[in-house]
Amino acid sequence: MARPNRFYDVIRIGPVQVGSHYDGRGRTKHTAACTAPGCGFSADYRDRSAAELAARTHRCSP
Ligand SMILES: [Zn+2]
Repeated sequence: MARPNRFYDVIRIGPVQVGSHYDGRGRTKHTAACTAPGCGFSADYRDRSAAELAARTHRCSP
């Protein structure tokens, strides 16, 4: 999957990376994406804290 190449403030919490990016419409979105092979979890959040919380509580599905 192609990812927007504009992420900033990328951090890693366990296997999950959280990054913020502009959506091109003047708003900022926050994405949490799991890097574990075969997991495929990724989601967008409007709040940075929500994305970080999702990353902290994420459990990989088998
Ligand atoms: Zn995962």
